[in-house]
Amino acid sequence: MLISCELKIIQKIVMDNNELWQSVLAQMQFHISKANFATWFQNTEIISRDGEKIIISVPNAFSREWLGNKYNKLILKTLHDIDDKIKDLEFVIKPQSQKTANEKISATDNEKEETEQLKFDEFKINKDTNLNPRYTFDNFVVGSFNELAHAAALAVSENPGFTYNPLFIYGGTGLGKTHLIQSIGNKIADGPKKKKVRYISSEKFVSNIVASIRSGTIESFKSNLGSIDVLIIDDVQFLAGKNKTQEEFFHAFNSLYERNKQIVLSSDRPPNAIPELEDRLRSRFEGGMIADVSLPDYETRLVILKNKLQEKNLELPEDVLDYIATNVKKNIRELEGALNKLLISHKTTNNVPDVEMAKKLLKGFVFSPFDVANYKKIIETVSKFYNLEEKNLFDPTRRKEIVKPRQIAMFLLRRELKYSFPAIARKFGGKDHTTAIYAYKKILQESEENNKLTEELSLIKQRIYSG
Ligand code: ADP
Ligand code: MG
Repeated sequence: MLISCELKIIQKIVMDNNELWQSVLAQMQFHISKANFATWFQNTEIISRDGEKIIISVPNAFSREWLGNKYNKLILKTLHDIDDKIKDLEFVIKPQSQKTANEKISATDNEKEETEQLKFDEFKINKDTNLNPRYTFDNFVVGSFNELAHAAALAVSENPGFTYNPLFIYGGTGLGKTHLIQSIGNKIADGPKKKKVRYISSEKFVSNIVASIRSGTIESFKSNLGSIDVLIIDDVQFLAGKNKTQEEFFHAFNSLYERNKQIVLSSDRPPNAIPELEDRLRSRFEGGMIADVSLPDYETRLVILKNKLQEKNLELPEDVLDYIATNVKKNIRELEGALNKLLISHKTTNNVPDVEMAKKLLKGFVFSPFDVANYKKIIETVSKFYNLEEKNLFDPTRRKEIVKPRQIAMFLLRRELKYSFPAIARKFGGKDHTTAIYAYKKILQESEENNKLTEELSLIKQRIYSG
């Protein structure tokens, strides 16, 4: 009551833009949480008034998207309550450093600013398909490290349901799996055939199934799934141990598969290395095409950097690009991160970064195996890989699910860190060091004979050295 009473009084007074905005802010605080208020309304102001329209400046594209999507109506209503001539509003981006009072920003400046901001992808996601339109084949760089996966993905997008079904793409983090499987979806969804495409992460898939079981809507969830032409599920390693979800997924999979609907899956490892995955599901995953993505070489890293620059219409000196491509080897996400870091520095300091600058700025990105492999990392990575708790590795048990990971941990401590056998034995509860020797020899020999183990070791090593 008090509020609306105050409003009426304020209304009578002719306010300047600043006063107007202050009273809007005062109102907003009644409607949203403190944290949200601080996040989204800090550094905002009314910069001009164009008849019925109020122009509000915000510090970046993030704020603009959020305010525009979430609070547009509320802000407009509050403004209108204060001054009923106000019928419209617009947000423009104005970084702090460039602020001058009541300066109006032209549309082109505004657009430029926006493209320079880091993109807030969430808002660009297609609501029907759940795909992010930025992932396309056109901006996906192909090299020997991913050419099989790329060729398979392209083939699937050209003839969904009939080429490889399912298509299973696997590889380490940040190597382009999501980009590639979403490119398939985007290409099909944009195609002439009006196919119904749906992308979903495994975590979301699991939580949707759990929620629909709980609310008794699992049948409609299933029939919804059944109506899809192309189902893309990201990071299926997260289905490990989720029995109920696996069961539902198995039926959904069969129902789609039998009707020649395309299924595309990604994972951080091949199907046979996903722990606690039902055999029948594993064999479905293995029933189509399996392709991996691995690490790009120097030349490809350079091409990726140049492509990203071209997309943004920006340039960096050749020797700086060479420095990044030579040193940032962990994955493509890091490569992008390193590039962005330099571009942001370029923008904020107005100096083109040279190699010295790049060295300073990219310390955290530069790959050095000796920094990252250590005892803790090995134990952590091995137990995580096999879905165990770290302490399980030290259990004095003969259970197969524990013995093998324990032997692998011992093997890696020896192989990667050159631990002595007695030192390894001490770490594992003071066992006789012949146990450590035995473990080392066994894993060494088996990995020479068994492709699956070799592959697991290589995936584990990749993670040890990339985290
Ligand atoms: P993953 O799903 O394997 O963890 P992403 O698909 O999320 O990896 O890729 C990480 C980032 O690297 C994304 O921004 C993606 O666009 C970019 N990227 C990955 N592979 C390529 C590629 N071959 N060409 C261009 N950009 C790529
Ligand atoms: Mg991904």
